[in-house]
Amino acid sequence: MTHLDTTAVHAGRDDLAGLGVHVPPIDLSTTNPLPDIEIGGSCYEALATGGLPVPGGTHVYQRLWNPTTGRFEQALAELEHCEQAVAFASGMAAISACLLAAAAEGKRHVVAVRPLYGGTDHVLATGLLGTEVTWADPAGVAAALRPDTGLVIVETPGNPTLELLDLADIASQCGGVGGVPLLVDNTFATPILQQPADFGATLVVHSATKYLGGHGDVLAGVVATSAEWAEKLRRVRAVTGGILHPLAAYMLHRGLQTLPLRVRHQSESARQLAEWLSTQAGVERVYYPGLPECDPRRLVGRQLSGPGAVLAISVRGGYEAAARVAGGCELITHAVSLGGVDTLIQHPASLTHRPVAAEAKPHASVLRLSIGLEDVEDLRADLERALKRI
Ligand SMILES: *Cc1c(COP(=O)(O)O)cnc(C)c1O
Repeated sequence: MTHLDTTAVHAGRDDLAGLGVHVPPIDLSTTNPLPDIEIGGSCYEALATGGLPVPGGTHVYQRLWNPTTGRFEQALAELEHCEQAVAFASGMAAISACLLAAAAEGKRHVVAVRPLYGGTDHVLATGLLGTEVTWADPAGVAAALRPDTGLVIVETPGNPTLELLDLADIASQCGGVGGVPLLVDNTFATPILQQPADFGATLVVHSATKYLGGHGDVLAGVVATSAEWAEKLRRVRAVTGGILHPLAAYMLHRGLQTLPLRVRHQSESARQLAEWLSTQAGVERVYYPGLPECDPRRLVGRQLSGPGAVLAISVRGGYEAAARVAGGCELITHAVSLGGVDTLIQHPASLTHRPVAAEAKPHASVLRLSIGLEDVEDLRADLERALKRI
């Protein structure tokens, strides 16, 4: 296997030279001509039940398979050290497919560790898809498992306050191989900083809308996993219709090529800003895995190769002060989402974590920042100006 940066540039492109092209072709066909009823029928059967396309066969219909989407899946699977990947129209569609695939086998119980992304928290807390959740502390996962537990769901770094979980420990509480599948939302870390499958995760989920796309112009989700789980997920995807559109897949596949550069550069700026913010009078606390007090188990360097480019601050003066700072940024855009080339700031308690129950909601003084590729001095100046409004 090649090194990560090389994989990011070349994965999912092995056959291009043979096709006489240099970049992946975009296949927009919603339907495909069938050689005959017999072959058409058997290809349909294979794809609708979650199988991969038969070489030389037909893809039948775009909801079952799309080759442009397949290239992105191949590349992401390689980056995540997984056998396969399955791409969806959004991160929430990806997470929902995992819940539905487990529930389809009668495993409706989920053990989850908070904090989680607000949408994930919401779908679990409401049981909207027919699941039942037990919220567990990181040390209490094993004790929360039941015979009908189908998934353990965690996020690290966590959203929005960047708590880190020890994945090897959680995976061993799940029972290791043959135990309960561990789903890790790897959106914040990306495969550049953390490959959860190496620590025992079965399902590695991304909101590809964030770093993988990286430019704020694609909504997408993906699950990197074993061949066995990928088949279950494709089967769910074929009936729920959540497949990723080929144009979006093309843009994501292209975005992966610069992912290592973007993540490292953005992380370096985030580190500098986190240190500077720690010295500011208006800032009560900085949440960033690169600060020693935020990483007591020293997971950065062991489980994560770097602290990433998302940070949070709690400002002195609660909600009022937070609203003034978010509204006072000029260069930094006040908007939800993260992982793009431009810096964003948002108030989790009011926006991304609005549906979360009061006891688990982020504090009203907390603001989350996703650091982009701007010059760090300009970002510092913008934050300095905004903090003066407190
Ligand atoms: C945004 C996000 C999601 C949801 O992804 P969508 O693409 O918006 O559906 C899930 N998990 C995390 C950590 C996120 O940041």
